[in-house]
Amino acid sequence: MRVEVVFLGTSSTIPTAERNHSAIYLRYGADRMLFDCGEGTQRQMTIAKLSAMKLKYIFITHMDGDHFLGLPGILQTCSMREREAPLEIFGPKGIKKHVKLAIDLSPFNLSFDVNIHESDDRIIVENEQYLIKTFPVIHREHSVGYAFIEKDIININEEKLKRIGIKPGPLYRKIKEGKEIEWQGKKISPEDYIIRKKGIKIVYSGDTAYCERVIKESENADILIHEATFAQDIKQRAIETKHSTARDAGLVARQANVKQLVLTHFSSRYKNEELHKLLNDAKKEFDNVILAKDFMRIEI
Ligand SMILES: [Zn+2]
Repeated sequence: MRVEVVFLGTSSTIPTAERNHSAIYLRYGADRMLFDCGEGTQRQMTIAKLSAMKLKYIFITHMDGDHFLGLPGILQTCSMREREAPLEIFGPKGIKKHVKLAIDLSPFNLSFDVNIHESDDRIIVENEQYLIKTFPVIHREHSVGYAFIEKDIININEEKLKRIGIKPGPLYRKIKEGKEIEWQGKKISPEDYIIRKKGIKIVYSGDTAYCERVIKESENADILIHEATFAQDIKQRAIETKHSTARDAGLVARQANVKQLVLTHFSSRYKNEELHKLLNDAKKEFDNVILAKDFMRIEI
């Protein structure tokens, strides 16, 4: 397993007995992060046996309460437990003001630093293993989606190199870095002597109407997590509120050629059995689709 995803909340504006507000937990190696942090997220994490103390990043898609109101509670609990590691919080333009308000709700100074980063459209995290991008979507004035993109894993094809007489050493490193080398008067192209494992891509739409930018960002993704607030029979309601229907989400998944579509952020009007209507709507466009539910885990 390289990536673990846990759905902590899958309801839209109003939570239900079975579904909490939006929050998606993602773990990659030692890095743990949340995408959105709706009210009640910390209790959902406790039930799922996940620790807010270990979170490195929190990414907020927009400032509506169902995506944001869990933050003050998480900050206060981490402070009571004397967290020391800084927490990085990312969100669209305007997030700084909202996070500062969330911090000010605490009667005490936090025991750790919170670094707030505002951005609507750029790479916001990058390290040797992965990068995370934010991109604008169509909902509130500042609303974003996020793409988690693992970098390709490159291993040396030792057997093939040994066959031409190159032994482990500095040349291996150069080949791994993608640099052309010279060996016995011949140019060696690195691509011929590496084994490339394609990186994993997971994209989260946040709240949005049908959006071409989501299609572009989720091209060939392993998983597209897309909101599907409404069924197709009330498309008009989706247009008015700048949300997607399940069929819109299916269309995006098909146009982006993703491997799997996971629908989330359902209107509370749909009880469990009624959600099949949304699944069927999406299937008219894209076959490999599932409905998220609270505490559902996906491992890749
Ligand atoms: Zn929402």
